[in-house]
Amino acid sequence: MELHDLYRGLGLDPDALTGGTLLVRSPVDGTEIARLPEHSAADVAAAIERSANAFLNWRTVPAPRRGELIRLLGEELRTHKAELGRLVSIEAGKILQEGLGEVQEMIDICDFAVGLSRQLYGLTIASERPGHRMAETWHPLGPVGVISAFNFPVAVWSWNAALALVCGDPVIWKPSEKTPVTALATMAIFRKAAERFGGVPDGLAEILIGGREVGEALVDSPKVALVSATGSTRMGREVGPRVAKRMGRSLLELGGNNAMIVCPSADLDMAVRAILFGAVGTAGQRCTSLRRLFVHDSVYDKLLPALKQAYGAVRIGSPLETGTLVGPLIDQASFDGMQKALAAARDQGGTITGGEQVTAGVPANGFYVRPAIAEMPKQSEIVAHETFAPILYVLKYRDFGQALMLHNEVPQGLSSCIFTTDIREAETFLSAAGSDCGIANVNIGTSGAEIGGAFGGEKETGGGRESGSDAWKAYMRRQTATVNYSRELPLAQGIVFDL
Ligand code: NAD
Repeated sequence: MELHDLYRGLGLDPDALTGGTLLVRSPVDGTEIARLPEHSAADVAAAIERSANAFLNWRTVPAPRRGELIRLLGEELRTHKAELGRLVSIEAGKILQEGLGEVQEMIDICDFAVGLSRQLYGLTIASERPGHRMAETWHPLGPVGVISAFNFPVAVWSWNAALALVCGDPVIWKPSEKTPVTALATMAIFRKAAERFGGVPDGLAEILIGGREVGEALVDSPKVALVSATGSTRMGREVGPRVAKRMGRSLLELGGNNAMIVCPSADLDMAVRAILFGAVGTAGQRCTSLRRLFVHDSVYDKLLPALKQAYGAVRIGSPLETGTLVGPLIDQASFDGMQKALAAARDQGGTITGGEQVTAGVPANGFYVRPAIAEMPKQSEIVAHETFAPILYVLKYRDFGQALMLHNEVPQGLSSCIFTTDIREAETFLSAAGSDCGIANVNIGTSGAEIGGAFGGEKETGGGRESGSDAWKAYMRRQTATVNYSRELPLAQGIVFDL
């Protein structure tokens, strides 16, 4: 399909996507797909103001009615799944299957949020005073700023927005400057849902196009009650303290350095498939991509050849062609970062298979690479660092306790997994003394989480949780209310304070 037809199908006017200062290129073949006008500081301030005003209205709309808006958003996303999924592939470079999967995730979180809109439960708490009732109520929080990364260009907004909107909060979105077109398409889809809803307050869902300075304006505005920021640890290190300085709330979803432990009893066929999807899927550009592999000595010589064979069979090429498993890296900087990391791995004693640029059989002007396997003598400095590219560091282990220690000995704490059929190892991995990550899986890879669970990680990953479980509580404020329906005024803790 021609790009402009795709834009029109998604409700975007192709003419409005040109003439600006933000040049957007497709990583597939380097073609210019848009030149977007960027928002000025005054535009950003006006958007925040509109959002603050929208909050005054939206917070009083009953939550199940707010859920109806998200139900309609889910319907519109279903209608436009194929087109939006394709645009994700074009703009972010992930293969079509993953582009579609990303939109499906948006639909799933909408379904979740619709149910949630009738389940924003508080508690009734036993009061120590006679004739008193205590209750905990969850109220809307205020405008939520969403800063998102390039690699999940639309799903991150939906994980936040679907929950925030049913919780009664307007949303201001600052998408990655590398993927703003999919964001504009998502907003066009949202507007369709809003129209069918019968209109929403002006400013309920804002989008701001621009670079980090736009993000910084959200970070610094006291009117933005919560800043939900997804991206590198470098970014989080700047955002977290700045929001804290003004006593705002932040929800940080940052880098990962995810690992798998393959134990002697593991089903190796399953492990190879899980390693492949985790390490080379999305060309290693997922926050949950598998980056470190600890393999027991007794199965190393069986697993590694099978893994290398599987790597050899992976089709690298245009993400828009069926059969491709590995698409391009997002840009030249990412390619250079990968080559630098491989050089460091070599210096640190690693033996590398793959990692070179692929130019044959792929579109020109894209950065295509053969995913790399780096067999390392130890967990050296480069292994502890997140390089956002398909490099899998492999280490041999003998003692399970030692493997667990190494597993946790990196600054990041997002996703982790173990392949074993030994219940002792599996349960130890999931125990308090096991994996220190926000996500821990048994006989499943590190990537590809479902929206029903809370998503996020510890340590340098930022500590935030999004999506399922009770992650919605981050988007609301908690109020403890005590009601005295007696004719006395007893004080808590039995304090006597009579005149
Ligand atoms: P990035 O940090 O370069 O940019 C992310 C976003 O932050 C962009 O919108 C950018 O404009 C904005 N930004 C950058 N500096 C800022 C600042 N000082 N103040 C405010 N906003 C700022 O990240 P990226 O390259 O787009 O994405 C890759 C990274 O994101 C990887 O580290 C990956 O692990 C991480 N990631 C994490 C998750 C998660 O859920 N934990 C999900 C996706 C990606």
